[in-house]
Parts: sequence; C-alpha cells; structure tokens
Amino acid sequence: MNIETILTLGKEHVMNTYGRLPMALVKGSGTWVWDSEGNQYLDFVTGLAVTSLGHSHPAIVETIIQQAEQILHSSNVYWIPNQVKLAKLLTDNSFADKVFFCNSGAEANEGAIKLARKFAKIHYGQNKVNIVSLKNSFHGRTLATLTATGQTKYQKGYEPLPVGFSYVEMNNVEELKGAVNENTAAVIVEPVQGEGGVYPISRDYMIKIRETCDEYGALLIFDEVQCGLGRTGKLFAHEWTGVTPDIMTLAKALGNGVPIGAVLAKDQVAASFQPGDHASTFGGNHLVTAVGCKVMEIMTSEGFLEEVRNKGQYFIEKLQNLGQKYGAKGQVRGMGMMLGLPLDEKAPDIVAFCSKQGLLINCVGGRTLRFLPPLTVSLSEIDQAMEILDTAFSRCL
Ligand SMILES: *Cc1c(COP(=O)(O)O)cnc(C)c1O
Repeated sequence: MNIETILTLGKEHVMNTYGRLPMALVKGSGTWVWDSEGNQYLDFVTGLAVTSLGHSHPAIVETIIQQAEQILHSSNVYWIPNQVKLAKLLTDNSFADKVFFCNSGAEANEGAIKLARKFAKIHYGQNKVNIVSLKNSFHGRTLATLTATGQTKYQKGYEPLPVGFSYVEMNNVEELKGAVNENTAAVIVEPVQGEGGVYPISRDYMIKIRETCDEYGALLIFDEVQCGLGRTGKLFAHEWTGVTPDIMTLAKALGNGVPIGAVLAKDQVAASFQPGDHASTFGGNHLVTAVGCKVMEIMTSEGFLEEVRNKGQYFIEKLQNLGQKYGAKGQVRGMGMMLGLPLDEKAPDIVAFCSKQGLLINCVGGRTLRFLPPLTVSLSEIDQAMEILDTAFSRCL
C-alpha cells in the first residue's frame, strides 16, 4: 500500500484519536526504519521507548518464530511456563517477590492502584483509599489512570472521574506532606517523568516521598512503564535514587514490540490479591512472556547496561554542546537513552525538519525535544543523528 491509500483508508475507517505524521513505517532493522515509500530513517523514538533492543533483533525474531510453532495462548486457568520464568527473572533482578502480567502500561497502573486499595482496606480499613500523584505526570488512559495522571488535558470530557485522587507539585515537600495522610492508600510516581517532558525526580525528593509514605502506611508505587528496563542505563530508573517502592509497573520495553505489562510487588503486598481478585485474558501469555524472557536475558547480560550509560554520557555531551552552539538556554535532562532538550515553541518545527532529513525524534510539552533511541544504538548512529539535528537547528532556530 502506498501512503496515499493508507491515509485515505485511515481517515475513512480509523477513529481520529492521534495527531499523526503523514507517514507509515513498514520495516525496521536495528536503529533504522523504512516508510512505505522506501525512505530510510534513524529511529530515535522507538515506538515510545518500546523497541529498546532495536527493530528485528535476531534473538527476538527467533524467539517469536519458535514460540509460534509451539503455542501462543492457552489461559491463566492453566500454568504458563514462560510466565513463571519471566516472573523469576523480574523478581531476581528487582526488589519485588511477585508479578502480575497484563497487556499495557495503563493496565499495569490500573492493577497497581487496585492492589494498593485492596492492601489498604485489608490492613487499615475502609477509608484508606486515596491515591496521590504528581502534577505533570502520565499514568495512562483508562478512567482510573487518566485520573491519576496529573494533567487536566487528559481528563477533560470524561467526567465524572473516579474519586480519591489528588496531586502535588514535584519537589514541593510541603505540598506532599499536606496531601498524604492516614487515608492515603498509595503515592504513585514516575522516577523519570516521560510524557511530562523528561523530568528525573531528585534523590532528595524521592527520599521524602518514601518517608512520608512510611509515616502513614501508604504504599509507594513506581510507574517505570517508560523509564524502566534499561532506558536510563540502570535496569530500573529508581536505582539512581536508591529508594525502593512497594509496587512497580512495567510495560513498553518488556516486550520489545509485543504487548505486555507487569505489576511487581513485595510478598506482603502481593498477598492482598487472591484468586478471582484480578485477571487478564491475554495477560502473560506464552508468546509475550517468551519475548519478555529474552528481553530480560539480553538486558541483564554482562556489560549491557554499562554500555548504555557510557553511550548516554556521550550523547548528553554532544546534545548539550549542540544546544549551546545555537543558544539554547536549558540543560539536557535525563539519563542513559532517555533524554530531553528544552527549547522553545520551535521544537515541533525541528521534529518535522528532522523527519524529512531521515531522523525520527519527537517533542513533549510542545517545547522539549525527546530522544529515545534503542539502547543498542551505536556511537556512529548518535553522530549521524547529531549531524541532522545540527542542520535542523541551523535552519529552524
Ligand atoms: C506510556 C505510559 C503509560 C501508558 O502505557 P500504555 O501502554 O500506553 O497504556 C503509563 N505510564 C507511563 C509512565 C508511560 O510512559
């Protein structure tokens, strides 16, 4: 199908929920993707931190083929060997003891909120239901998760919203102390805010959140749907802060493109879910957990994350220098392969220019360029991206 046909069919038959660029990607290999017209691009978007091992990674392709030949799906009425294996890999490499599998980030957060409320009811009684989140956060598009999302633009038109949610300004300890009390079931935070504009939470503030939760018996939920799984150069972004949550959610990169989400928790918290309390038909099926195991195997292999951190440092320096060359005032935010360069209202023009020149990046909050290359990106691919960006800055800024 050529792009004209795709646009015509899409406009006629697909709900108009996305502001899409007029292009369709049809093939990918490593850091590179091709559109329906045969144009080639460096992919520094990775389907929004999903294809973290690059496109068509040989080991992932092989895993999918082999699993498809065995069995794709049965049901959680039966045990699923790959699911228990992935649960072991995730718990062996994190604070958690138990995992629940679902299919997306929003579902994982929905599950985390349900688990926190169940735990709070069992241990503290009927009134401990409230969920506190940060302003400018993003937690998903289901009714509960868009309510947890501290940005009204995602909530407008969907009222009445579920009750029991409130919001605090990041880094404002007073507001936090005012919002968390004995009726708080949980505080949910992204260790690095993604959609909000790549804002890492400081170690000091994270420690304050943990202390405040502990003071009132509230659970701490880390939404690592975007920043988790090697994205920041640590397996989980909260490792940068030294603070450990009670519940953590994952999705995006866990399947490198197949849909999977996960809720991780300590034993004492996970025990609040009993048979019948929560479920998902597709959750953790044979295919997605086979891929999840392979992703975890690669990400935890010797030297993998160290290399992400080193390449991230290289990328940050290049980006910072380029910004300075063109008079950008802001500092690069983020770590590893999750970086944001604050600019101004010209950011969307730069995204458009770059895509025409063969570099896919995107823009958050209308003013910040966001870079999410595959963790496997090479230094020379970073250099190529910087050259295109240099041209874009010289034309647009
Ligand atoms: C993308 C994202 C979600 C939502 O994930 P979906 O798979 O789109 O439902 C939730 N939280 C964060 C931090 C995200 O970046």
